[in-house]
Amino acid sequence: MNITDTMADRDLDALRAALAGQVFVPGEAGYDQARQAWNLAVDTRPAVVVEAESATDVAHAVRYARAAGMRIAPQGTGHGAEPLEPLDGAMLLRTTRMRQVRIDPATRTARAEAGAVWADVTVPAGQHGLAALAGTSPNVGVTGYTLGGGLGWLARRYGLAANSVTAAELVTPDGELVRADADHESDLFWAIRGGGGSVGVVTALEMRLYPVAELYAGDLFFPIARAAEVLHAWRDWTATVPDEVTSLGRLLRFPPLPEIPEPLRGRAFAVVEAAYLGDADTGAELIGPLRRLGPEQDTVAMIPAPALAQLNMDPPQPAPDRGDGAFLAGFPDAAIDALLAVAGPDADAPLASIEIRHLGGALARPASGGGAQPAIDASYVLFAVGFTPTPNLVAAASAQAQAVKDALAPWHAGYDYYNFEQTPAPARAVLPPASYRRLQDIKAAYDPDRVIISAHPVWSAQTDPGGIQRSSTYQGEHP
Ligand SMILES: Cc1cc2nc3c(=O)[nH]c(=O)nc-3n(C[C@H](O)[C@H](O)[C@H](O)COP(=O)(O)OP(=O)(O)OC[C@H]3O[C@@H](n4cnc5c(N)ncnc54)[C@H](O)[C@@H]3O)c2cc1C
Repeated sequence: MNITDTMADRDLDALRAALAGQVFVPGEAGYDQARQAWNLAVDTRPAVVVEAESATDVAHAVRYARAAGMRIAPQGTGHGAEPLEPLDGAMLLRTTRMRQVRIDPATRTARAEAGAVWADVTVPAGQHGLAALAGTSPNVGVTGYTLGGGLGWLARRYGLAANSVTAAELVTPDGELVRADADHESDLFWAIRGGGGSVGVVTALEMRLYPVAELYAGDLFFPIARAAEVLHAWRDWTATVPDEVTSLGRLLRFPPLPEIPEPLRGRAFAVVEAAYLGDADTGAELIGPLRRLGPEQDTVAMIPAPALAQLNMDPPQPAPDRGDGAFLAGFPDAAIDALLAVAGPDADAPLASIEIRHLGGALARPASGGGAQPAIDASYVLFAVGFTPTPNLVAAASAQAQAVKDALAPWHAGYDYYNFEQTPAPARAVLPPASYRRLQDIKAAYDPDRVIISAHPVWSAQTDPGGIQRSSTYQGEHP
């Protein structure tokens, strides 16, 4: 052991002593479990994993990393770990133990610690007849989701989750715990609302809740042989619905696994999933044109808001997957045809799910005082994912996700959706250009040494390795 190792050991011992949480280094029991992301296909080997128990722990960990010359990758669940750069030599700073949530029904707000997942918020909020702008999965982290924008079932009515954040507590790269809101640290407050987690380690978020106790929502399942008819009908329907309807059209292939219920097991479907913020009679009238197509299974009914978490049938347990997504300027007939040519009923398509979500409504209007994603300049968003239980399936799923993305390239919008971009890509590829430029300035001011590793890196204007080329050529009309 040399002198440097001894010093490093001593510092690590001091860190362990200072923390309520835990520290793991390679070779120690618990290291493998602590570094494991929700996406089991991701295999990172950080120099240190810290499982913080509190904001104070986070601050200690950040200061340790700075002193040791380590970069820091903040992480909650690891749902979004796929695009991360290798973490060799870095600290993985996990917030999984920080899951306290406080709901304030009087002010219709929630405060969620950085490790909370959406079910931690939606279930207690629902007890007060309130809903948060959660995503489709109850297990996705509130923080990572919200920092990247956050598109959920109420999105066309209430916009991105990021723009409903009222305050963030975070530890800056200097190790200071600060509060960012409309009156304090306005640059940080702007950056974390849609610009990802590149300017510090968030320890808690406060957000608005909405008075939504129940919705008319559910899924319509059609055999995949009817995919063309269903996707065309759904796309036409999206042009007619009010902002209170958020929906998606989907190709869904279930594996032949015993845990999948019998009518779905081993079969493929074209599915429409929809949520309407209103009463059953109006909802039934709105969904009528799709219901009249005669779905094989129809679950659309009044449900309590927290039950939205089941609509998209996202995996309840960690799973290995490969996926990708893209904002689409439109989804016209030719795009549907192009998608079905690579992933329709006759295609040899290993992806479990390809969904097209309808955007517009509140998402298209600049949020008052909004953050780095003030509005979305795209009409639809693609998300394609394949499960990869064995390593030999990884290449096929990646290739298929890329094939789907390529097939829709003529309709790509100017940039991709931060949260759905799964291939490594800089933040400039997933943000509006003006937001990216402002984020570069904020990153340079708060993290000039680029200590914080984020899902999509922010480079300074001097060091940016260059813009990515988008294949967008679509100039047509909506849809
Ligand atoms: C099954 C599934 C369903 C999904 N559904 C939706 C959906 O409906 N809508 C949607 O918009 N997205 C959705 N996503 C995408 C999801 O929002 C992103 O993957 C998001 O990054 C996950 O956040 P996380 O905290 O769970 O993941 P993590 O991997 O823990 O975090 C992702 C990134 O967020 C940043 N981050 C996390 N915590 C902190 C922190 N404390 N401080 C600073 N930075 C931090 C880091 O850069 C980190 O790499 C879904 C993903 C999956 C796998």
